[in-house]
Amino acid sequence: MVCVMKVHVANHPLISHKLTVLRDQETDSPTFRHLVEELVTLLAYEATRDVRTQTVEITTPVTKTTGVKMASPAPVVVPILRAGLGMLEGMSKLLPTAQVGFLGMVRDEKTLQASTYANRLPDDLTGRQVFVLDPMLATGGTLVAAFNFLIERGASDITAVCILAAPEGIKIVEDAFKDAKIDISIVTGALDEKLNEHGYIVPGLGDAGDRLYGVV
Ligand code: URA
Repeated sequence: MVCVMKVHVANHPLISHKLTVLRDQETDSPTFRHLVEELVTLLAYEATRDVRTQTVEITTPVTKTTGVKMASPAPVVVPILRAGLGMLEGMSKLLPTAQVGFLGMVRDEKTLQASTYANRLPDDLTGRQVFVLDPMLATGGTLVAAFNFLIERGASDITAVCILAAPEGIKIVEDAFKDAKIDISIVTGALDEKLNEHGYIVPGLGDAGDRLYGVV
């Protein structure tokens, strides 16, 4: 079996509304952070559609019955620092029992190459469902590097949650893993038109990290 990457573009009026406010350059950082949190909770609903579950027996006040609970081990959520951190709260609302690992990645603004500068992850991700949080799937370099990092640790079921994606980035990720024997999904709030010459998503929302946390 080879990898057939699934791409899900969320199509919901509330997501479109919140994205429009997010894109507006007049939206201030506190509002931006709040909207990202709300958006990620909505996207997480889609992203967790195939989360593993197990059947359990329970007793209601009325009778015994069979239900479904999330399977063990719990999924691992990995925000990519810095901008992915702004997505953690929204994801944790739906997956409060998930383990959280961190991956610090930076892209060189000239070469657009991504490199890892920090990581705090379980050494062994075999059999774990992993949810990567990265708001902007632009050139795809960061996600490819992050996925490779996770695959080296045994991950074979990875879903990226993005606020916006560019077609160029989707293609790069798809091509990079087309022969890999892993399940990869991307859930995004919107698929934008293109990248500009600086690697920014058009129409996009600008630099997600700066809009979340200010220019440093
Ligand atoms: N990273 C961002 O923050 N914004 C873009 O448009 C592209 C990459």
